[in-house]
Amino acid sequence: MINSEKLKEIILKMGADLCGVAPATRFKKAPKGFEPEDICEECKSVIVFAKKVPKGSLNISSCVPYTHVNNILTQEVDRLGVQISLKLEDMGIKAVPIPSDDPYEYWERDNSYGRAVLSMRHAAYLAGLGALGKNTLLINKDYGNMIQIGAVLVNIELEGDPLVEYEVCPPNCSICIDACPQGALDGKTVNQKLCRPLSNYKNEKGYVLKKCNICRKVCPNNMGLQEDA
Ligand code: SF4
Ligand code: SF4
Repeated sequence: MINSEKLKEIILKMGADLCGVAPATRFKKAPKGFEPEDICEECKSVIVFAKKVPKGSLNISSCVPYTHVNNILTQEVDRLGVQISLKLEDMGIKAVPIPSDDPYEYWERDNSYGRAVLSMRHAAYLAGLGALGKNTLLINKDYGNMIQIGAVLVNIELEGDPLVEYEVCPPNCSICIDACPQGALDGKTVNQKLCRPLSNYKNEKGYVLKKCNICRKVCPNNMGLQEDA
């Protein structure tokens, strides 16, 4: 049977920029109904991978290029998840691709609160790809928050990657919290009802635009961990 190292090597060759493994047992703190086994009972391990997002799309005046790359990268990561799953199936492994963003079923209309079937940023943390910042985004030491994350559930036990040991937020940093025009961040969560009108802004033409990504943009670690962080 294939091991964790070989599997990650294959997935990196297929186009992922990062890849890690989290045993399903690491997800015990996930909300009830949102653990990997709630999606697929036989799940033993979660393979988490990510692709880089072009840095040039972030620190510019127009929100259109970032919206554009976000749309493309979400599709690319989803496509890669499907390709990985097909490859694993050929090896006799049951593999379940999880969407990088949507669709999902859980929705609280009054709070405009949606919950993904599996939280990608938490999965990435549990697979050793980075740590969560106070802006609620995963921060990887090399690529910062400029990554799009995907995951595949598998029915085989694989060795998990160690959780990262680096800190991503200096204790006294609150740049992202202070900069949010909606006051949507509290250092632990994002209030989706406040954030959504800007991060998923619908213009008169009907396009959904990432009008705001300030919490991503202002983070000193957004392109990778700064040495003094
Ligand atoms: S995307 Fe904008 S509105 Fe939403 S949490 Fe970040 S800074 Fe606040
Ligand atoms: S701006 Fe500061 S507090 Fe916010 S995520 Fe970045 S390092 Fe952490």
